[in-house]
Amino acid sequence: MGKNTGFLEFEKESPPLRPVKERVRDFQEYDTFFAEEEMQRQASRCMDCGVPFCHMGCPLGNMIPDWNDLVYRGHWKEALAALHSTNNFPEFTGRICPAPCEDTCVLNEHYTLDADEKLKKVNAVTIEEIEKHIAERGWSEGWIKPQPPEERTNKLIAVVGSGPAGLAAAQQLRRAGHIVTVFEKDDRIGGLLVYGIPDFKLEKNIVSRRVEQLRAEGVKFQTGVHVGVDFSVKELRKGFDAILLATGAQHARKLLVEGSDLEGVHYAMNYLPQRNRDVAGDFIPEEEKIECESKSVVILGGGFTAADCLGNLNRQGADPEIHQFELIDMEPRPTPVHEEADPDCRANILTESITDNGKGRVKSLQAVSVEWKLEAGRMKMQRVPGSEFTVSTDLVFLAMGFLGPNLDGLLEELGVRLNVFGGDESRSAEEVKKMLRNAQPMFTIYSDENFMTSEDGVFVAGDANRGASIVVWAIWEGRESARCIDRYLMGTTQLPTTPQAEELV
Ligand SMILES: Cc1cc2nc3c(=O)[nH]c(=O)nc-3n(C[C@H](O)[C@H](O)[C@H](O)COP(=O)(O)OP(=O)(O)OC[C@H]3O[C@@H](n4cnc5c(N)ncnc54)[C@H](O)[C@@H]3O)c2cc1C
Ligand code: SF4
Repeated sequence: MGKNTGFLEFEKESPPLRPVKERVRDFQEYDTFFAEEEMQRQASRCMDCGVPFCHMGCPLGNMIPDWNDLVYRGHWKEALAALHSTNNFPEFTGRICPAPCEDTCVLNEHYTLDADEKLKKVNAVTIEEIEKHIAERGWSEGWIKPQPPEERTNKLIAVVGSGPAGLAAAQQLRRAGHIVTVFEKDDRIGGLLVYGIPDFKLEKNIVSRRVEQLRAEGVKFQTGVHVGVDFSVKELRKGFDAILLATGAQHARKLLVEGSDLEGVHYAMNYLPQRNRDVAGDFIPEEEKIECESKSVVILGGGFTAADCLGNLNRQGADPEIHQFELIDMEPRPTPVHEEADPDCRANILTESITDNGKGRVKSLQAVSVEWKLEAGRMKMQRVPGSEFTVSTDLVFLAMGFLGPNLDGLLEELGVRLNVFGGDESRSAEEVKKMLRNAQPMFTIYSDENFMTSEDGVFVAGDANRGASIVVWAIWEGRESARCIDRYLMGTTQLPTTPQAEELV
């Protein structure tokens, strides 16, 4: 695999990001590409470690050492085939995956001697970049073509939701010969790939060219159809042999403090889709626009959503005074957008109230430092006396995570049961709604080991099944649920599976 001495000869390198001054003036991707030879050099660092752990670190079980070796030897087309055998959308994961595979790369645990005979850590293979370069090579060479099924089954499947889970399932099911219709309530296909993740991380033509591939394979798309609202559950049940719920988990956690309903306090998921629409050239009514130019901003949260707010603010010319506060004992995850500005990022900060300017608009935010202590097996939070502080701000963005799928008419009418985090019994959507009046528990749609919900023939995949997660897991869930649906309809299935490490032991 690779070149035996590659990791000793070459350092881990990734293509440089576009210069900050240049990239904050537009919304194009901040990533760049390596020349072919440079990428081959990086692939040569894969060191024939004997028992590779990287593909176990990847939820999809991507066959990383195989494609590293193929790239090193210049066999890009074969590398693409190996990559596609486990991953429908490597151009998405190659750009935005947090790359757990690189943490498990054996090189990550390796040390060598430098020129002064001192121990020097060897870094992981740059797996994610290699993945992106293989996928893009496939697109630019015209190797990625529609693969319509050779045989048809005439079974009708409805996929509700067009995020990465729904799209991966739709492609697998269509390739197995079924008639697949994807329903999406928004006007574009892609879920959070299109209306959450900003263009500077993932340009939208990258999503639409993949959607066109699915369309050419025969997947039918219906946008602007909110199932359970515009299209009744009765019709859905009557018209399809199986249903997959891939509706995501976009029920946001609320900020339960005084002033959280003031003008200028926004959920991140009101702001980010609007930004993506604006970048796409859509008309945004004046009264709905969230103007950020020259405004000071507090972002609450430390994950992807918070960072994506920050990246947009940098590009909209917000005041350099941006604060990012995280409640738990973890500094907000550093990302390329953090180097574009110099935000005041702090962990262990609890927001206590938001004050208005006398006209119903936010003026300042009051917070306090907290400490976390383990007590009786649970982490308990304590205020640090005397650490209270106030920051002036024009805007507050709430990016504090998601509780579960939206509990709209669809789940209620279907009658599917839900799992509430920390509880033993499954609950109805009505019961979970009641619980949400007094508390903020996390919840998912209940499923068995075959991705089937409590209702026969109704399956679930992606964030709706596992809770808010990442794209690579959504693709895995889409692929695995497709396999279970195919077996449910046909009695047997040829679709591939990637068991997770815990299932193998
Ligand atoms: C702002 C943000 C940034 C992120 N950045 C990253 C990142 O950089 N890397 C990463 O790996 N992950 C990231 N994630 C997480 C990732 O986007 C999600 O884990 C992933 O998109 C989940 O896929 P999904 O298909 O389950 O659901 P979603 O992508 O949420 O798609 C669900 C779709 O279902 C539709 N829908 C829901 N109900 C109905 C209905 N009743 N009828 C019709 N349609 C319906 C919704 O409109 C939506 O389009 C990010 C998440 C957010 C919020
Ligand atoms: S999908 Fe993510 S975890 Fe898997 S190989 Fe690619 S970057 Fe690594």
